[in-house]
Amino acid sequence: MKVGFVGLGIMGRPMCLNLLKAGYEVTAYDPFAAKALDEVVAAGAVRGTSNADVASKSDVIITMVPNSPHVRAAVFDKGGIAEGAKEGLDIIDMSSIAPLESKDIAEKCAERGINMMDAPVSGGEPKAIDGTLSIMCGGPKAMFDKYEKLLGVMGGSVVHCGEVNGAGNTTKLANQVIVAVNIAACAEAYELATMAGVDPEKVFAAIRGGLAGSTVMDAKVPMMMDRNFKPGFRIDLHIKDLNNALDTGHGVGTPMILTSAVQEMLQWLHNNKCGSDDHSAILKYYENITGVEVKR
Ligand code: NAD
Repeated sequence: MKVGFVGLGIMGRPMCLNLLKAGYEVTAYDPFAAKALDEVVAAGAVRGTSNADVASKSDVIITMVPNSPHVRAAVFDKGGIAEGAKEGLDIIDMSSIAPLESKDIAEKCAERGINMMDAPVSGGEPKAIDGTLSIMCGGPKAMFDKYEKLLGVMGGSVVHCGEVNGAGNTTKLANQVIVAVNIAACAEAYELATMAGVDPEKVFAAIRGGLAGSTVMDAKVPMMMDRNFKPGFRIDLHIKDLNNALDTGHGVGTPMILTSAVQEMLQWLHNNKCGSDDHSAILKYYENITGVEVKR
């Protein structure tokens, strides 16, 4: 099976390296990430010269780009995947995009004889490096069955969430709501403890194994205490995800009260030059109000 990989950013680079390590034949390309492309080529990938070139050399292509306009551009623009695609090419879009966009892109691909599945991920850069991402898939079960093993190289869990294109991205939106609200709860609580005179490190040691403990707390609170806001997952990407969650919530008619509150914090941070920080920098929203830093 010849695999193409398009988009070698924070997530795509280590995911592509894991496919190479597992012995897959990979052609890779990213027009804006020359260093990452050199690195995957050094690890054994064939250097693609355009998205169309990758398509002409692949049976299946993984895309890992920021948002739906980037997926559309990668597939349909001049020099894009559709231009070089052989009949029956499969695309697995692992980017996190709006579910309705996934569905629409899949329909436009089908008109050109290209099959599509959405397979966004959770777990961030550390799990992309370890190959233990949580992968949530939407699209025909037959396509899921065909690629479950390939996805398993990058994931600790690979779940088929529904036959409809976009079902994976709907699941991802639920994930992003829970992560955002959980980080904001951690920021609020550790600011409270610090201002009340209790060492945040002691709070972390005392509560992380209890009911309040979470993967989010384990990953993000040490970053907060270390004042390390290097992404990880950028605030601007989380704004994109919560916009998609709010739109979807409004569309289906469910209240999104907590999501909208955290979205306002993220938007304030974006407007105050923190859009490229890790989302653990939600803490800075509270610190700006109190003037007190949470640190070891
Ligand atoms: P990133 O910005 O680091 O990387 C995206 C890459 O896509 C860039 O290198 C860019 O050059 C490339 N790209 C953009 N347009 C392209 C095109 N037309 N053709 C080819 N390549 C193109 O982003 P990331 O953090 O790797 O995130 C990628 C996706 O994964 C996003 O949808 C994000 O929401 C999701 N995600 C990220 C994380 C995380 O922790 N970073 C975790 C889970 C999911």
